[in-house]
Amino acid sequence: MLEITKLFTMLANAPDQYGYTTTGIPSHIGGISTIYWVIIIGSMLLSWLVSSTLKRRFEEYSQMPIPMTGKEVAEQMLRDNHITDVKVTSVNGHLTDHYNPMDKTVNLSESVYNSNSIAAAAVAAHEVGHAVQHAKAYHWLAMRSKLVPIVQFSSGMVQWVLLAGIIMAAAGGSPWVLLTGIILFGMTTLFAFVTLPVEFDASHRALQWIDRTRLMNYMDHAKAKNALFWAAMTYVVAALSSLAMLLYYIMIFMNSRDRN
Ligand SMILES: [Zn+2]
Repeated sequence: MLEITKLFTMLANAPDQYGYTTTGIPSHIGGISTIYWVIIIGSMLLSWLVSSTLKRRFEEYSQMPIPMTGKEVAEQMLRDNHITDVKVTSVNGHLTDHYNPMDKTVNLSESVYNSNSIAAAAVAAHEVGHAVQHAKAYHWLAMRSKLVPIVQFSSGMVQWVLLAGIIMAAAGGSPWVLLTGIILFGMTTLFAFVTLPVEFDASHRALQWIDRTRLMNYMDHAKAKNALFWAAMTYVVAALSSLAMLLYYIMIFMNSRDRN
């Protein structure tokens, strides 16, 4: 990713087909290059801010014990939602928790699976929230699942199509390869935005369930909500960064069309 970032910068700073360079960088391309760096650095700063806050909150809430492990929380919430065909398993790694709709498993990272803390309960309940969405055919989850193969297809080639498109546009060639790249990239942006209601809804279901159970005697609603809020913010930053990059590519496209 970083290599491609460098290449884009080189291309954005390269003289255009007329070869005029007053300050080394023609003003219209120089402006685009600045916007590019504002987006990249802005996204990096925001995602660092969110992930470090998330990490701090989780460390803090991991020290607050409750009488159930992540595994027990997940199994109880599944039972309470009358879901009998979903299994709760443990997976390696940190922050690797996810629900897999293909084999109907709630996969909890080892630290969540075995730990009995507010943080573990919040994560476990959130992942079961996805299982509940699946069982109830929640439309945003269905839409997200439909987008998965399209995004897998486009993500394999999108950077190369964009790169080829930018080179061709910079050389005064046809801008249509760039447009193809923009459409492919647009799919990943759309996916990032469709993910948002899915994530917020899973957290909402988790908190509603926590409030209804005896866990509420031990759990602080505000703390569970706070942990899930920061987890959701990582998706918000990803979606906004993706949108900013999409607009940036569209700007290059418009710019190259104006010149041709
Ligand atoms: Zn989630």
